[in-house]
Amino acid sequence: MSASRAVLMTNVHVLTVDEDDRRFPQGYLLVEGGAIAALGPMTECPSTSSDVPVIDGMSPEGHCQFAFPGFINTHTHSFQALTRGVGEGLPVWEWFSQALDLVVGNLTVEDARLSAQVTALESIRSGCTTVVDYNYPHPHPMMADAAIEGFREVGVRTVLARGIIDTGDVHPSVIHSTDVELADCRRLLERYHKTDDDLIRIWLAPYTIFSTSTQAMLASHRLAQEYGSGVTIHAATPSTLEAAQALFGTSDVVHEESLGMLGPNLLLVHCTHPGPLEQQLMAQHGVKVSHNPASNAYLGEGAAPIIELLSRGITVGLGTDGPASNNNQDMLAVLKLTALIQKMLHQDPAVIDARTVLRMATQGGASCIGWDDSIGTLQVGKRADIVLMDPWLPNTVSFEDPAVSLVYSATQENIRTVLVDGQVVMRDRHILGRDGTLNERAILRSAQAAAEALRTRSGI
Ligand SMILES: [Zn+2]
Repeated sequence: MSASRAVLMTNVHVLTVDEDDRRFPQGYLLVEGGAIAALGPMTECPSTSSDVPVIDGMSPEGHCQFAFPGFINTHTHSFQALTRGVGEGLPVWEWFSQALDLVVGNLTVEDARLSAQVTALESIRSGCTTVVDYNYPHPHPMMADAAIEGFREVGVRTVLARGIIDTGDVHPSVIHSTDVELADCRRLLERYHKTDDDLIRIWLAPYTIFSTSTQAMLASHRLAQEYGSGVTIHAATPSTLEAAQALFGTSDVVHEESLGMLGPNLLLVHCTHPGPLEQQLMAQHGVKVSHNPASNAYLGEGAAPIIELLSRGITVGLGTDGPASNNNQDMLAVLKLTALIQKMLHQDPAVIDARTVLRMATQGGASCIGWDDSIGTLQVGKRADIVLMDPWLPNTVSFEDPAVSLVYSATQENIRTVLVDGQVVMRDRHILGRDGTLNERAILRSAQAAAEALRTRSGI
């Protein structure tokens, strides 16, 4: 991308989600060189040269579109864009062994690229500008490279967290030696971390306590320290707790603490069942949490204690999880489920509000991946990852508070325009992609054909 990416957004209701939660009901955002150069009320909107494109958010009725920081999906598995619905209704261990095990070894390198493209398209359409792809499995070399290529073509900001599976009984067809897994992690860090205008970052993703050896867990922690990166792992779920008890006689979080892994660059995924000790350790070490309510519900794993985690000062971001257990990657659905499930769990409608959920989806997500110095809020100097929501649809009319409208009423239809790093990747619901020429329909056709072929190869 060129350094001249410039856009002036006028007549937009700006929700900054900054520390003071500043809002400009009729505001502007000026983007220069892919960053937010200025913002404020329209009365202070600067004049720009005529070659700066203008996106005007004013409706014929005199209302402004809503401008939010792009949402950050802190956990998904892109390959599952080709495996939606596989194993529906199975308990989690059978879901692993009878559903995913059948397909993971049959994926191709091209499947990895296509599923990343679909993931990126689905993300943009639901207002998501950054995706953490917990990238497994790797039946062939260069699967992660292909996924990175797919994300780049569509144009979402990406954390590729390289999955590490070197032991255990789950997914035997894609278990590799510890050395092979770690060598590929280092190769990816060297080649891609913070490259491409810092749109790509590489993390380490030990799969679970029952699929990753202690040696690989320790090495992933060291690699993250060495490269200024992070580690993410599925944790404190019924299956990881059961396995940790059998393997180590304690919980997975306590075991990871004994290995010295807990710290601010550790992102634990799911955390449906952390006890008081685990929560205290997580708070003490500044560990972050990716909350995946749709997947937790789909797999019958339980409701995560989000209110308790927040009250302990633990940073929580939101994630879809892979579409084999969701079955989509729609961040808007995750925002709504986050609010509804906590209200239901606590039998208290006041226990969480739309502003809190919006913050988790943006600033909280950015903090979860250590990227909050550049993204997650709309502030001068931050990268221009911006979502415009059009409230003029039947599902949102009678709108007043943009955050309430977003969390409880909005669907993908309302997400109108999306910028990533100042690049307009979707305009008026038309996908443009990285260079303005992306053919969304062609990608979907190829992905559907690839998914049908994958099922055939896998005997499903
Ligand atoms: Zn997952």
